[in-house]
Amino acid sequence: MGVHRSARCRGPYGGEGHQADGTDCSDPAVFEVARHHRPPLPVCPVHLGPSLLLAAGVLWPPQIHLIGRAPGLRP
Ligand SMILES: [Zn+2]
Repeated sequence: MGVHRSARCRGPYGGEGHQADGTDCSDPAVFEVARHHRPPLPVCPVHLGPSLLLAAGVLWPPQIHLIGRAPGLRP
């Protein structure tokens, strides 16, 4: 059990509040994408790439944090 609860992917659009319903991915989040003036966006590996291009407020260059276990990714 880690510090982080098993967050759900909010990608690739990172909708907030009532708009969060637009995200239909229910995979566990593995990465967290830092955003400008918005809470970090938790995403699964599949949506990491798309979220960098589609979600609002993503910093460039992207700032990505590993928050979960990524299959196939070695530390
Ligand atoms: Zn996802």
